[in-house]
Amino acid sequence: MMRSASGSAALRMASSRASFCISFITAAVVLGASVSSAWAQTANPPPADHPEVTVHGRKFTPRSILARNMGTPEDQTTQFPPHKIIGNVYYVGTRTLSSFLIVTPQGSILINSTYERNVPTIQKSVEQLGFRFSDVKILLGTHAHNDHQEGDALVKEMTGTQTMAMAEDVPALQAMKPSGKEHPIDKTLHDGETVTLGGTTLTAHLTPGHTRGCTTWTMKAQDGGKMYNLVIGCSLRPPATLTPEVIAEFNHTFPLVRSLACDVPLGDHPAQYSMQEKYAKLQKGAPNPFIDPAGCKNEVDIEEAMFHALLDEQRQAAGH
Ligand SMILES: [Zn+2]
Repeated sequence: MMRSASGSAALRMASSRASFCISFITAAVVLGASVSSAWAQTANPPPADHPEVTVHGRKFTPRSILARNMGTPEDQTTQFPPHKIIGNVYYVGTRTLSSFLIVTPQGSILINSTYERNVPTIQKSVEQLGFRFSDVKILLGTHAHNDHQEGDALVKEMTGTQTMAMAEDVPALQAMKPSGKEHPIDKTLHDGETVTLGGTTLTAHLTPGHTRGCTTWTMKAQDGGKMYNLVIGCSLRPPATLTPEVIAEFNHTFPLVRSLACDVPLGDHPAQYSMQEKYAKLQKGAPNPFIDPAGCKNEVDIEEAMFHALLDEQRQAAGH
């Protein structure tokens, strides 16, 4: 964590890529938007409320994007009604932390255990859908932050699942030890590798920037006699300080994400694909709202605009 003495420089410098999302939002929620001078004194201040970008008619700042992703501490741990998304893919996460279940004849794949304390909630969601938690045979993740993969050790303990992780995220995952538990990694994956179970194949795309091994998963799902391309996105939210390494990573990641075939956009925070709005439409009997090719670029549009605005701000501050 980089720290500087005080003022706006501290706000810009304070949030590093290694900081976990929860710390930011907890600070934001607890302190509120008005107590700015105190942030420099806290261990994990929330991100700055600038720059502001307007994308598809909506305004965003780094702080508002984080708040959108995380909601309140209660949102992070409250079960969202488990539901079928499409084909053999189900939502089993909380209001603001995604967890996806992919059911096959040979067992299930779970993507993102979220916080360790959410694992019983995920289990409950799996069971409410009529499946068995013990059938989880493979556990995957989108990125090495606590709010997405802290529960991996507990899921493995409860199910005996095999865990797989993108090589570039392994060091950060190994540093994640809830209650001292070693982070389980049974298999290390590399960019482009596939994971297959019971006829379903997922492809791991290395999309770094938010973390070194941020992984975007793609797969095909069949529904109503048609095949659909699913993209389970990793967070594209840039850190406050853009190092040359992070800049290079995002310059690789944004075009890659844009190039993926996509009918059903999903993400590691439900707000990235407007889950709550789509779920409400589903309840009204609308045609499957998760089939949304027009919405496939929304999240990358927002995050890429923010990345360039942050880069401009950083270059101006440095006198370039
Ligand atoms: Zn994260």
